[in-house]
Amino acid sequence: MPFPTAPASYRPSPDLLRGRTVLVTGAGDGIGRAAALAYAAHGATVILLGRTESKLEQVYDRIEAAGGPKPALVTLDLETASEDNVIQLAAGLAQEFPHLDGLLHNASVLGERRPIESASYASWLQVMQVNVNAQFLLTRHLLPLLQAAPAASIIFTSSGVGRTGKAYWGAYAVSKFATEGFMQVLASELENTSRVRVNSLNPGPTNTGMRRAAYPAERPTDNPAPGDIMPTYLFLMGDDSANITGQAFTAHP
Ligand code: NDP
Repeated sequence: MPFPTAPASYRPSPDLLRGRTVLVTGAGDGIGRAAALAYAAHGATVILLGRTESKLEQVYDRIEAAGGPKPALVTLDLETASEDNVIQLAAGLAQEFPHLDGLLHNASVLGERRPIESASYASWLQVMQVNVNAQFLLTRHLLPLLQAAPAASIIFTSSGVGRTGKAYWGAYAVSKFATEGFMQVLASELENTSRVRVNSLNPGPTNTGMRRAAYPAERPTDNPAPGDIMPTYLFLMGDDSANITGQAFTAHP
């Protein structure tokens, strides 16, 4: 069964996210960077979260230079962040912002591409920490701010190998199955009790550092650039998807 995408004719309004505050993890590079720029270009105040400050600063500068709303910058390594760190982050954001209108869980690591029988436990733990446990901590402690919004959207980033298992994708694939499960559990909990909607999005093959590392023999430009797949990222973040929750999307058919 094909996964839904934004309607082919979808043209987001330039004001789609005006007045909204959206947090993007892994905002310094790849798809997260493109999403941060796209959300700001459509009016959002973007909270740029990532582990490499210099990359976040470049995104910050691009948004400011384009005349977008002044972003916020949070340097946090999701591999080592403790629950206390995330509680402090949530408390700090609550002082600055009355509510959070969107959360894009985008940061992930690829880990090892090898058979389970020779996989390292250390790498397994690292992938689960960044791709699953950190998503739990952020979701758990940012939910009050999301629930304070008139309408909020949480987007979990999935992958093709998080929907059909594939040899040698190891912890990464398992982490993405966990992400899909997390999305379904949370969407079901919130469906009739809150204005927060929750969906997952598989970007599909996209020309980023992660894709180039996973497929070194591929010609990178055969895949779309991160900026090319933004319509579905915008569709799911803004009110055009207001009644959609618990769905697994893909960014290009
Ligand atoms: P990139 O590797 O290009 O970017 C990943 C981002 O996550 C970077 O900004 C990186 O920061 C950040 N990040 C990684 N580890 C941490 C950490 N410990 N703490 C905080 N931030 C961290 O990947 P993509 O842009 O390709 O991937 C984005 C999402 O899309 C991921 O969830 C990925 O699984 C998914 N995806 C991508 C596909 C593709 O073809 N590109 C296909 C299917 C899914 P830094 O730059 O500092 O390293």
